Amino acid sequence: FDDRDGHIWFDGALIPWRDAKVHVLTHGLHYASCVFEGERIYNGSIFKSREHSERLRRSAELLGFTIPFSAEEIDAAKLATCRAANLTNGYLRPVAWRGSEMMGVAAQQNRIHMAVACWEWPSYFSPEARMKGIHLQLARWRRPAPDTAPSEAKAAGLYMICTLSKHEAEQNGFQDALMLDYRGYVAEATGANFFMVKDGVLHTPTPDCFLDGITRRTIIDLARQRGYQVVERHILLEEVRDATEVFLTGSAAEVTPVGRIGDWTYIPGQVCRTLMLDYDTLVNGRPLAVAAA
Ligand code: PMP
Repeated sequence: FDDRDGHIWFDGALIPWRDAKVHVLTHGLHYASCVFEGERIYNGSIFKSREHSERLRRSAELLGFTIPFSAEEIDAAKLATCRAANLTNGYLRPVAWRGSEMMGVAAQQNRIHMAVACWEWPSYFSPEARMKGIHLQLARWRRPAPDTAPSEAKAAGLYMICTLSKHEAEQNGFQDALMLDYRGYVAEATGANFFMVKDGVLHTPTPDCFLDGITRRTIIDLARQRGYQVVERHILLEEVRDATEVFLTGSAAEVTPVGRIGDWTYIPGQVCRTLMLDYDTLVNGRPLAVAAA
């Protein structure tokens, strides 16, 4: 991904894509003192840009460092990066990390760096898999307790178990993994939040040890506008067995139906389709149809 044309915003300026490099003794690389965002631009406007910029800054604070750019400056950096690429529909990856001045676990004086890259990324899962619903394997790794890791942060270190889980799922022919939390409740997929539908009611896990996704909150709002009841609660895996619909939400994944979890199968249904369309309408800046669900 490093060998391509284009520009990356790096510490305040746009530089050629291939020159956006860090030293191998970067603290963020060795000790995961690194936070990032994932967001999308639709028709030239970045969806909920300010919320993502603020979350990036908050994630850094949760890791004990301050990004030397304000939310306004981060918003401007993201737009400048998209404009330089002439990108009106695509994905953005802001990232911030501790630099390489000192080597060791402690590196309080190390400079904080930030970069923004963007590229075209139409679909997180393949369009065919999305239509049928993706297949999830139960992960062997669990989301850690909030007193084990700063689980509210979108921090690189928390993705170690996500990559392990997703790789194992892919090796077994699944598209993603479903992770339980440290108590055994259903948590999320490796890069997206979890919803299920039962008797026409939406249920989603309480985000008390994983990311309370911006898409998750958007979908809860859209569902309530449609008159659906949404319940946030602790969900046992056994309860998912007889759900009528299951789907994931995320900035990259958008609304993605789930067709299978292990041996349990689901068919993407009315609720999921309605919310996929409503999300598409909202992010593209079109007014929502007032039709009943
Ligand atoms: N959980 C994880 C682990 C994620 O990586 C993401 C994607 N950022 C989400 C949930 C969904 O968050 P959002 O809707 O804010 O993209």
